[in-house]
Amino acid sequence: MDLTYNEHNQLALQDIPLTELQETYGTPLFVYDENHIRNQCRRFHQSLKNSGVEYTVSYASKAFSSIQLFRIMNEENMGLDVVSDGELYTALKAGFPAEHIHFHGNNKTNEEIRYALEAGIGLFVVDSLSEVDRIDALANGPVDVLLRVNPGVEAHTHEFIQTGQEDSKFGLSLLHGLALKGIRKIEASRHLNLKGIHFHIGSQIFGTEGTTATIKKVIHWLNDHDIHIEKLNIGGGFSIQYTDEDVRYPIEDAIKEITDTLRSVCEEVDYPLPELMMEPGRAIVGEAGITLYTVGTIKDIPNTNTYVSIDGGMSDNIRTSLYDAKYTVKLANRRTEDQLIRTTIAGKLCESGDIIAKDISLPHVEAGDLLCVLATGAYHYSMASNYNQMRKPAVVFVKDGQHRLVIKRQSFEDLVANDVM
Ligand SMILES: *Cc1c(COP(=O)(O)O)cnc(C)c1O
Repeated sequence: MDLTYNEHNQLALQDIPLTELQETYGTPLFVYDENHIRNQCRRFHQSLKNSGVEYTVSYASKAFSSIQLFRIMNEENMGLDVVSDGELYTALKAGFPAEHIHFHGNNKTNEEIRYALEAGIGLFVVDSLSEVDRIDALANGPVDVLLRVNPGVEAHTHEFIQTGQEDSKFGLSLLHGLALKGIRKIEASRHLNLKGIHFHIGSQIFGTEGTTATIKKVIHWLNDHDIHIEKLNIGGGFSIQYTDEDVRYPIEDAIKEITDTLRSVCEEVDYPLPELMMEPGRAIVGEAGITLYTVGTIKDIPNTNTYVSIDGGMSDNIRTSLYDAKYTVKLANRRTEDQLIRTTIAGKLCESGDIIAKDISLPHVEAGDLLCVLATGAYHYSMASNYNQMRKPAVVFVKDGQHRLVIKRQSFEDLVANDVM
């Protein structure tokens, strides 16, 4: 992301001082570098093209859903993965082609299934045995599906964002024969066509060991049971850099390792090479987004800590309280050589756990200063809430040196729009 201090010592994105965005749109504010988003999509496409395998790359909507983002995804030839009728609605509203959308979720309601069938989505990712019956009963014609399997592989990541271990609410386990049952059930259904297999072993995964091990396991399993598929969807999970301590595993290297593994295991057991599908979310939008906050109250607790309170908090960033996430925070309105002090950035909501960044090093800041939290493009706005009747922030995209509003800040009227008077 093109974020640098300009000649006035202000942090600027594509030469636009962040203070200008603060003045124009107010804070808290989400700001995305659209060029960065598009470039991430192109890196996936380029690496997959270079590998020579047939592929589809879809964006995982849950990372950040908005109409303009979905239009960009379509322009960048991405498919879309949705997990709710609300995400599907937003995508259709954006004019996203239904045939490039696939529907995930461990508990799709009948209403959601009906809605997705009527819209004509490309694929359902079936997550349970009962879902086979439910889709079959609701469909009037052929429906292409993938079966989500639980491969029993533990990805190297945070416990709460691991999904591939044996004890999980997602998918059907390979080990206990449930996945095989699912396949037989799909084969026996009237309307469902088994197009392939899906797995997603976790998020913010460092390296590709878990993914390549799972690919091998799944191809061997398919081969052993004489199951033929056209598509293998390996989910998302590509890691990004929140702080200097994170390893940003290069997309190009990851895709090379993944496609090399897929090719070699297929050759080894003489299994026809399937189309490779993947669905990154965080890696597309995570590092492209930042959050701007204005500093309010400051509390210096002698020899203990300095609490800097900002005008947002867990209503726009739940990840610190949820996952103990770490962030890089920068002073955006001025640059100083002042000594760094131990600082905790606290939100303004009524929870002690409402912390954005704990024990970080920052220069002395003052009320009115502008802070910028990096890498907040994924799972921030999409996880935002109205706790304490906080209004969801506005979202701005910056492209080629120009900024534009993409989502308005919620109004007070929005907060009570559904209240019955
Ligand atoms: C969350 C999720 C993704 C995206 O994960 P990222 O870590 O954001 O890339 C993709 N597929 C499925 C099924 C998911 O649940």
